[in-house]
Amino acid sequence: MQAENLFSPDYATARQRFCDAAEELGWKLESFPREGSGPNDELLLTDAASCPVEDRAKVLVITSGIHGVEGFFGSAVQLALLRQWKQHGNPAVKCLFLHGLNPYGFAWRRRFDENNVDLNRNFLLPGEVFDGAPPTYARLDSFLNPQRPPSRWDPFLAKATWLITRYGITALRQAIASGQYDFPKGVFFGGHQPSTLQPLLEQNVPTWLAGSQKVVHLDFHTGLGPKGTHKLLIDYSLSDWQRDCLTNWFGLESFEESQSSGIAYEARGGFGRWCVEKNFAPMYLYACAEFGTYGPVTVLKGLRRENQAHHWGKPNNPATRSAKEHLHELFCPHDSKWRSRVIRDSCELVNQAVAGLTAEA
Ligand SMILES: [Zn+2]
Repeated sequence: MQAENLFSPDYATARQRFCDAAEELGWKLESFPREGSGPNDELLLTDAASCPVEDRAKVLVITSGIHGVEGFFGSAVQLALLRQWKQHGNPAVKCLFLHGLNPYGFAWRRRFDENNVDLNRNFLLPGEVFDGAPPTYARLDSFLNPQRPPSRWDPFLAKATWLITRYGITALRQAIASGQYDFPKGVFFGGHQPSTLQPLLEQNVPTWLAGSQKVVHLDFHTGLGPKGTHKLLIDYSLSDWQRDCLTNWFGLESFEESQSSGIAYEARGGFGRWCVEKNFAPMYLYACAEFGTYGPVTVLKGLRRENQAHHWGKPNNPATRSAKEHLHELFCPHDSKWRSRVIRDSCELVNQAVAGLTAEA
């Protein structure tokens, strides 16, 4: 399988290929219209595909695109899996694939949704409030979120270097990327209320997972960690059985809990923690499968510039287009070696999960 052929040039193509591949496998497809429209007036939908199997006790859930532009990668992974199973037959467990969780961000090539919400900061639990920002974020607002179109002359790197010297990269990353609820046009904004994705999931996941006992959910992301490598990131407290599954199926080095001092940071409103807290199944294991692309300063620079262009630039202006094209590259590099490696490793992760699920009595 040529990895290169799995990556689509735009959201509409990716979605069509996903739906076609799922139907060719005989999977049930459901499509959910979402808010807004794409840059070419295309409809925006989240698609759910599930394979029909008798035994519903064990379920593999694969989701992608909650961070919009990362859907280029996630969609390619889902297509690779569907094609793999077309060749070798459906896996022995029930599968549920959700494609384009944030179709607006996918179509417009941005991380955030139609309300500028970072959906992976939006899943607050009951009792948590959509309010507040880390004090350092508030101090850096004018640097992170300039209220003007991007300009050729932008002393980003000089300022970033100075900030890293002052605060340290770990503290700075935590302050900037952990989520904020006070700057609606800023980067990493978690929203002022639950997004429309939440009721969509609340209404449908119980039906999709009806009769399930044990669910393994891999949510595919890019943009953190060394280029081409991957980690399973966990944003909730693992129980013993969850830790055992991760260790036995993927290896001790394969995963990282957000409290540890590795590539991750502690974020508010994470999707995984919410899925686990919802008790959609008696046993629910979630992991964010995170694949590295570019370094953190380069990624932040690109996110900041795209956000600036999206809010303050003209939609078809060359500077706006180039900021979005660059973000696409940052979260889904065109380098064919990177593409082959991440597809190979993603399929391996999923095959390990299927093997782990089916091996247990
Ligand atoms: Zn992501």
